[in-house]
Amino acid sequence: MTETLFDKDRPRRVIVAGGGAAGLIAAWRAASRGASVVMIEKNSRLGMKILISGGGKCNLTHAGSMDDLRAQFRVDEARFLNPAFHRFTNTDFLAIMHAHGIATLARPDGRVFPVDGYNAHDVVAALTRLIETVRVVIVTQAPIDRLVIDGGRVRGVQRGDLFTEADSVIVAAGGSSYPATGTTGDGWRWARDAGHRVVPLRAALAPITLARPRPEWSGVALRDVVLRARVSDGGKEYAHWRGDTLFTHKGISGPCALGISREVGEKLDGGLPGGGMLEVDLAPDHSFEHLQALMRDQIRLSPRRTIGWFADGYLPERLRSTFWDDAGVDPNMRGAHIAQRDLNRLIRFVKGWSLGGAHSVPLERGEVVAGGVALDEVDSKTMGSRLVEGLYFCGEVLDIAGPVGGYNLQAAWSTGYLAGEAAGAL
Ligand SMILES: Cc1cc2nc3c(=O)[nH]c(=O)nc-3n(C[C@H](O)[C@H](O)[C@H](O)COP(=O)(O)OP(=O)(O)OC[C@H]3O[C@@H](n4cnc5c(N)ncnc54)[C@H](O)[C@@H]3O)c2cc1C
Repeated sequence: MTETLFDKDRPRRVIVAGGGAAGLIAAWRAASRGASVVMIEKNSRLGMKILISGGGKCNLTHAGSMDDLRAQFRVDEARFLNPAFHRFTNTDFLAIMHAHGIATLARPDGRVFPVDGYNAHDVVAALTRLIETVRVVIVTQAPIDRLVIDGGRVRGVQRGDLFTEADSVIVAAGGSSYPATGTTGDGWRWARDAGHRVVPLRAALAPITLARPRPEWSGVALRDVVLRARVSDGGKEYAHWRGDTLFTHKGISGPCALGISREVGEKLDGGLPGGGMLEVDLAPDHSFEHLQALMRDQIRLSPRRTIGWFADGYLPERLRSTFWDDAGVDPNMRGAHIAQRDLNRLIRFVKGWSLGGAHSVPLERGEVVAGGVALDEVDSKTMGSRLVEGLYFCGEVLDIAGPVGGYNLQAAWSTGYLAGEAAGAL
């Protein structure tokens, strides 16, 4: 059965497959260029992942120059994103938000959020209004089964026995993390069927389960620490992130864990047992020598204070007894009595307390998935497939994964814009 949803007055028919971040901007841009656009979404509502982003607050983008934003991605990804990031910038996206009455604020760390009183629901509502004003037809609860490709060009999409014919199809079906939000990796299946290479998938921005989890610490947060990953105990560092580390039932979460999870996952997949070793630096602003001098000064001033009194400030209470056991130093010893060797050992533990190895980095619990449609088979200036005419890709379905901080949504907005612009061109 063939269904006709397009506006007959408009000469070019574009299907946007997926109504998330990239799809919304792609649909708006294609329709703004005069194309008749149908957005087909699996869920009953649009933008499910936007709704849960930033804990429901939605970290929309990152402040700064687009070159700075781009530099946060791996080199090949950054190169690919260059045209998209310069064509549709963070300020371009924020201008849309502001035009829809959503004021935004850049936090000191550069992450941009809607101001208090607005949240992710307002963002999705604004983007929905945006596409409605350019007469995008929205079809929800409509999971697409496959793309229809014939003679090297895309002809439309198939869902059940319904065939929707189009001149172009923009695949904006996202990744496969948080599958309950509708993203179950369908876009990758379609891409493979179309002959595209899909770079092996791996979690990025995910919590890390530990080989020796500490469920009794679940809920405890280490504020403003550095989490490091080394190839072995005392070996070469291969990743680090500064911020908060949260203990969970099975391991660690929070910005630090998310920040190094991609690299840890790669080491685990590469066969390094435990991905090496993870450690926390509890005093990242102080070097070993500085901390040594600081403690010596404090002990000189208050020699009768216990050594625990000097060091406990770096640790939440629930972690202290394990820390002191691991360090092998008695926290009740008076400062004046501590041997230099024990003081050095204590400082070494403050600067690098081992959490042991990782057990896994669960792909489905990541904020984004690394891997996806291979970038060398997609034209970075248009997001068009180099293999199938009329086929476009944007957003997380591509082999792109940025760090925490609004970078991934910006990649979705920018690549969506380019895909819509090219697919909607008359
Ligand atoms: C918990 C969480 C928090 C996050 N927080 C942030 C943040 O604060 N800032 C940030 O920059 N990034 C954040 N991200 C990442 C960000 O949400 C994604 O990078 C972004 O949503 C990707 O956009 P997308 O359009 O490619 O995919 P999505 O937004 O996932 O959209 C894909 C859409 O395609 C639909 N779809 C899938 N298959 C089909 C099908 N067969 N037929 C029809 N439709 C289909 C899906 O239902 C979905 O609506 C977060 C992610 C998670 C999981």
